[in-house]
Amino acid sequence: MSYGLDEDRLVETFRELVKVNGPSLAERPVADYLRRAFSGIGLEVEEDRAAAATGGDCGNLLVRLPGRDTGRPGLIFSSHLDTILPTDNLEVAEKDGVFSSAGETILGADNRAGVAVLLEIARALSESGGSPAPLELLFTVAEEKGLLGAKALKKGWLRGSLVYVLDSDGPVGKIVNGAPYGVKIAVTVRGKAAHAGIDPESGVNAMVIAARAISAMKLGRIDPETTANLGTITGGRAVNIVPELVEAAGEVRSLREENLLRQVDHIEGCFREAAAAAGGEITFSSRPDYPGYHYPADSPPILLFRRALERLGLGMELESSCGASDANIIKGLGIDALVIAVGYLKPHTSEESLPRRELVNAARLVRELIILSGQ
Ligand SMILES: [Zn+2]
Repeated sequence: MSYGLDEDRLVETFRELVKVNGPSLAERPVADYLRRAFSGIGLEVEEDRAAAATGGDCGNLLVRLPGRDTGRPGLIFSSHLDTILPTDNLEVAEKDGVFSSAGETILGADNRAGVAVLLEIARALSESGGSPAPLELLFTVAEEKGLLGAKALKKGWLRGSLVYVLDSDGPVGKIVNGAPYGVKIAVTVRGKAAHAGIDPESGVNAMVIAARAISAMKLGRIDPETTANLGTITGGRAVNIVPELVEAAGEVRSLREENLLRQVDHIEGCFREAAAAAGGEITFSSRPDYPGYHYPADSPPILLFRRALERLGLGMELESSCGASDANIIKGLGIDALVIAVGYLKPHTSEESLPRRELVNAARLVRELIILSGQ
């Protein structure tokens, strides 16, 4: 079977999809578009209850192509439905085979390019009598809002054992084989309130404790694979009261779990020391935000990806990312997950663009991965 792609149809689908306005938490119009498109080829779109958890108007969508039974768990491909900003009134420009936004809005190739690719794949497979292997196409919501859709994914929904997440910028052939572990931290510094003018001696200034702790702390880039940030701080009640309470929150992320834990301990230690020295107290909490992953170059998901690229005459580029994606969350469900590039450039800006050739290559690559998974 050739599973012939219709490149013009793929491009047309992409052009239509970017014009469907569907920013985070308001993806319903995109879901409606997909429901119509998939039902046109006899495929059912399942929807989970993620909307209730995210507060959006749409859940995650899943389309299953049963495929020929290979006796092995199937492949999953995913892309997110939302765009980081609205794409109302988008005019798509095409110059020298590169798509961009003709106006002020973003193009939204992140991630409608991925959505268009998966729809074209489903059409091509359907026209060729079905998939050569079990296949699931997952469309998540509210990815740009902190991976909310993936975090609310219906448990046990996915049957495959490996997902390639179509959601990275850069040329097709890039695969993100390392992504960070992330932890959110919250600290409450407790001092003692006192009248600032009459009796400052009996007060313990929580703001001073926090300031000393933070100035003693390593933040920013901790090592090549680890970053830390305190992002918010609040506290104090009035200018004539020694502040009793300060609350701060932040995050640590690292490609290495042990470095992440060490940095979290370091931050907690700085607060504890400063509080102890001043006679205050702290409450410190840290909770995992997402698990990281690292796939060596000789691991099965990378080897499969490399073989698919070789069949297309394309090179492979491995990348460790400092950003988290749906892949981190899905990995946390016990499913192998890696992010692959779809070819767009400068996502999240009005200069976002997508070469037509890259869009086509992304679809060809997904097709090769599916064919290989059926062998
Ligand atoms: Zn994206």
